[in-house]
Amino acid sequence: MDVLARIKALREELNQHNYNYYVLDNPTISDFEFDQKLKQLQDLEAQHPEYFDENSPTQRVGGAITKNFETIAHEYRMYSLDNSYSKEDVVDWVNRCQKILGDVPLEFTCELKYDGASISILYENGKLKRALTRGDGFQGDDVTNNVKTIKSVPIRLKGDYPDRFEIRGEIILPLAGFEKMNQDLIEIGETPYSNPRNTASGSLKLQDSAEVAKRPLDCLLYSLIGNNLPISTQFESLQKARDWGFKVPIQSKLVKSVEEVFEFIDYWDIHRHDMLFETDGVVVKVNQVQYQEELGYTAKSPRWAIAYKFKAEQAVTVLNSIAYQVGRTGAITPVANLEPVQLAGTIVKRASLHNADQIEKLDIRVGDTVFVEKGGEIIPKIIGVDTTQRKSDSQKTVYITHCPECHTELVRNEGEAQHYCPNFYGCPPQIIGRIQHFITRKAMDIEGLGGETVALLYNAGLIENYADLYELKKEQVIPLERMAEKSADNLIKGVEKSKQIPFERVLYALGIRYVGETVAKKLAKHYKNIDALANASLMDLILVDEIGDKIAQSVIQFFENPNNVVLIDRLKGYGLRFEIEEQESTMVSDVLGGKVFVVSGVFETYSRDDLKKVIEDNGGKVGSSISSKTDYVVAGANMGPSKLEKANKLGIPIISEYEFNDLINEN
Ligand code: AMP
Ligand code: ZN
Repeated sequence: MDVLARIKALREELNQHNYNYYVLDNPTISDFEFDQKLKQLQDLEAQHPEYFDENSPTQRVGGAITKNFETIAHEYRMYSLDNSYSKEDVVDWVNRCQKILGDVPLEFTCELKYDGASISILYENGKLKRALTRGDGFQGDDVTNNVKTIKSVPIRLKGDYPDRFEIRGEIILPLAGFEKMNQDLIEIGETPYSNPRNTASGSLKLQDSAEVAKRPLDCLLYSLIGNNLPISTQFESLQKARDWGFKVPIQSKLVKSVEEVFEFIDYWDIHRHDMLFETDGVVVKVNQVQYQEELGYTAKSPRWAIAYKFKAEQAVTVLNSIAYQVGRTGAITPVANLEPVQLAGTIVKRASLHNADQIEKLDIRVGDTVFVEKGGEIIPKIIGVDTTQRKSDSQKTVYITHCPECHTELVRNEGEAQHYCPNFYGCPPQIIGRIQHFITRKAMDIEGLGGETVALLYNAGLIENYADLYELKKEQVIPLERMAEKSADNLIKGVEKSKQIPFERVLYALGIRYVGETVAKKLAKHYKNIDALANASLMDLILVDEIGDKIAQSVIQFFENPNNVVLIDRLKGYGLRFEIEEQESTMVSDVLGGKVFVVSGVFETYSRDDLKKVIEDNGGKVGSSISSKTDYVVAGANMGPSKLEKANKLGIPIISEYEFNDLINEN
């Protein structure tokens, strides 16, 4: 098979696997196999830039940067929907339609209203051409690069699609993905996002599409737009779109009466909570395209559709007090203590107040009657105050100026919403929080020690930082609450065992701001040991793949602090790992004894980089081009003809990857 044919076959195969996984939710190969195939394609494309295709599945990982999103006029306007909040509104709407159309048999398509950011995607000859945001409805922003990274959006269509059409839908962030993103943020001491919808629309406007690719976005489609499309009903268009490879939720239903519309509404008002994404209502559309055309549009929305909004889950209660929590990084979060109230099936006692600006904006005061709402967020929020219920002697809320725990004056950096307690080393919740982070599973994973025990140990004056854990004696621990001989033993053993934890996790455990799990891995791999990292300059750090300004600054600051230097010295003394494993950085054997290898072509069992690494790990050298100094050429499929000729001319042995393996194993 020639290269182009192989490239095309791989692209098609990968597109199909993406479809199976992201649209059908039914993968047929393992992630590992998928990654290998993707790698093969990447290698082939790298060797043959002449076959570049912007619609290749390799482009899904992103990388394109959009500095300014170009504003482009919509060919077909993107309308809003009329909202209704009651069933009477829906009945009125149906009557209006019948009045215009006369006594015709109306059908309706009922769909869920997906809560995200609207998008319109243009396809030409089965290829994704362009994606625009709604903007003001007349013109939107070109976010093509970012939309292409969303794996459920097909970049090539299948079946009997029209030559040219737009498809419209909603870019959403499923709840599980949203919570995962927030967990990751909380872990590195950042403020979590407030809700899935805003995070989804914010994601579309990120400049770096590689960032977008990492977010678990999804795209749900609901409407086809174009000239002379081969469809006569809305319901049919949903089925067609599904056939062409789009993700169209299956909950949509074709009904023939208003009663059935209500059944759909009632059913989903309850069952929407079982869905994996947020829905804020139901959209009812006249099914027949012919009638849609007759009904037409008002200045803002189609007359043939209406959105029924579910009532947001709200409750009224009283604000008893405001508490201020201090996080591991010193960030202050105001929390409302409420008179307990029933909301969306749970009893709510607390609500988030976010920050000082939010309190100011809503003018929330202790004693106020407040409205609490529950959306996709984990903890409910206060959305407003019933000022008519306010007592005349009520006092305006004054935000705290000093840390509630250590009484240090708070700071607020420009451009940041949160206040901080800057007393990093003296503020108890920060100290305890840091130690708690240190012992978590993904960090030092200290068995026999939990978050509450950390607090107990700190309050008993036994530890003041994570290094102190390694000095703990069994006799000191036993007298603690709920401790016994056995549990104290386990704790000490767990601490001892943690000395085996690899460097990358130790680095993560240190709790450097913005250095989460992934970043810690990157840094460990790049610098190999803590001293090299501690000595890195800002410039140096920024040059590391995926390390930005913010992270680099934070790393520098961490090592500039003498307290941290002392801590790390102590940890080194106890025998924690501060460099990556020997064999990871140096060779595993010396059998290749300095021989020079040139690697060419595509391999079946190695990626090129892996092969090069194996050569170096076994004491060989990797040359970039064939010369008289080359000892072996390791050739895969499609080795370039000029290289082949040169190797033959110089009489250099050409070996396969399997012969190469033999070379290592024989010795
Ligand atoms: P609104 O923004 O409240 O005017 O509601 C209109 C928006 O709802 C549209 O622009 C779409 O982005 C969105 N929407 C979500 N689900 C659907 C659906 N099934 N059909 C039509 N529009 C939908
Ligand atoms: Zn403090």
